[in-house]
Amino acid sequence: MINTTDIVIIGAGPAGLFTIFEAGMLKIKCHVIDTLEHIGGQCAALYPEKPIYDIPAHPKILANDLIDKLHEQAAAFAPVYHLNQRVEKIEKNVDGSFVVVTSKDVKIACKAIVIAAGCGAFGPNRPPLDGIEEYEGKSIFYSIRSKAQFSDKNIVIAGGGDSAVDWVLSLVDVAKKVHVVHRRDKFRCAPESADKLKQLAAQKRINMVVPYQLDGLKGNDGKLATVIVKDFDGNIKELEADYLLPFYGLAMELGPIANWGLSLHKHFIEVDVATMRSSTHGIYAIGDIATYKNKLKLILSGFAEAATACHDIYKIVYPDTPFHFEYSTSKGI
Ligand code: FAD
Repeated sequence: MINTTDIVIIGAGPAGLFTIFEAGMLKIKCHVIDTLEHIGGQCAALYPEKPIYDIPAHPKILANDLIDKLHEQAAAFAPVYHLNQRVEKIEKNVDGSFVVVTSKDVKIACKAIVIAAGCGAFGPNRPPLDGIEEYEGKSIFYSIRSKAQFSDKNIVIAGGGDSAVDWVLSLVDVAKKVHVVHRRDKFRCAPESADKLKQLAAQKRINMVVPYQLDGLKGNDGKLATVIVKDFDGNIKELEADYLLPFYGLAMELGPIANWGLSLHKHFIEVDVATMRSSTHGIYAIGDIATYKNKLKLILSGFAEAATACHDIYKIVYPDTPFHFEYSTSKGI
């Protein structure tokens, strides 16, 4: 079966989410595709609970809250989301329309495409543990949407960078027990965070399991019971665990976008800033992935670029209807 819509938005980060709204205001329907299992791009995957200070009219807003608000604002236009799948292929038809094909073989026919793919498709570096798929999304998470889920639970946090340590510091007051697994006794994090970690270990508020590496999982039906760890001499420990949170960083790659014949500059898509058109007619790029002279890689740039792209796309979707500019205050939604 093939889906049909006006535009396909590749990437559900802040730029992609705001495109839904801008498109909706112009009566342009859309489908949105993202590799991640949740919307929000870098905001949700990399720093959900950090405050952002440079979103206009929000003196301070948590990254997760910004995504929730963008989601709510977009909902009025009933976008169709296809998550947990990567756009692999774009086929151009002779009439200038496109068919977008995802890694789950979902096919979407559309009149134009907005690429809002950030730094490219990214996903977590997953520990190579037998049977890990059974637990992912149930007892094993690579990003955290809400701390409440871990209230009074036994958790194992693995990794030695800022994300792992920040989450230890953040969850220690919520969880029943926090085990920290790292292959070295040195952590690659901000010095103040490393000091706090040492204090928590000295106070026996966390269990430092160093130098150990993840070695296996025990549980049933996706419900974790034990995380097995091993040191370099082969000594094994079994840690009682309801959840495992591995923070081994994200792998980022431009992926298939590099093969779509678009004009690129250092892994970014070159666009005409007046329209956000790429080198291929009907394909637009906005947000972090788009490049032009003096480009600022900020969320607010992505918002303005979304508006510019959608106004240009209107001519493709409605070639016979002249465009009359109206403010949202006159038009409503
Ligand atoms: P992204 O947020 O990167 O989203 C792109 C999405 O596209 C991703 O979800 C990805 O999975 C998806 N994707 C990519 N390729 C494909 C494909 N082939 N198929 C399907 N999906 C695909 N900016 C600010 O303005 N203010 C700040 O204070 C600020 N703080 C930051 C702090 C940190 C720690 C970081 C890492 C960034 C910060 N930024 C900040 C930058 C900001 O997050 C980015 O500018 C913003 O996320 C870019 O939005 P985007 O929608 O263009 O791309």
